[in-house]
Amino acid sequence: MQGAVREHERVLTALGAKASLVRRRADLEGLDGLVLPGGESTTIGMLLEEYGISEILRQGDLPVFGTCAGMILMAKEIEGSDQPRLGLMEIAVRRNAFGRQRESFEEEIVAPAVSPRPLHAVFIRAPYVVSAGREVEVLGKVDDKIVLCRQGRMLAGAFHPELTDDDRVHRYFLEQVVGKGA
Ligand code: GLN
Repeated sequence: MQGAVREHERVLTALGAKASLVRRRADLEGLDGLVLPGGESTTIGMLLEEYGISEILRQGDLPVFGTCAGMILMAKEIEGSDQPRLGLMEIAVRRNAFGRQRESFEEEIVAPAVSPRPLHAVFIRAPYVVSAGREVEVLGKVDDKIVLCRQGRMLAGAFHPELTDDDRVHRYFLEQVVGKGA
């Protein structure tokens, strides 16, 4: 609906997946997984409700990878906000959490479950996870803040792997979360 949709499509296609755009509820049919891109989480959240997509995703059957605003929408709790959300993960997030000095930055992230070599991550007005439930697997941190985590079929990242040449988080989603291999 918003955000770097084409870039996600490019990475997924390069990894051998068949990617299609989801704009309405019927587009969800036949999918093995869904990527929720960044953008403005309040807007995306409202559109997901309006199109009846939230209702289906809340059933929890479809693997979802949320990046940035997408991560915010995955959270049960959004600090200081009652904006619409999917609430698919036992996490509490803080929006625009790195503050003005770090509005946008790049960082290497150590995430051994994803790859033995650090990931290269681009953050843009990024959130981070302030607390996570016991079922949540923390995959990566920056300055001690959780920026990549997983709960079963759900994966959330505070950064934008689609804006780099680093395809390892998408590969992890396809191979380990969706389980279809790339
Ligand atoms: N700051 C945005 C929000 O809170 C997220 C930014 C992004 O997706 N790059 O919705």
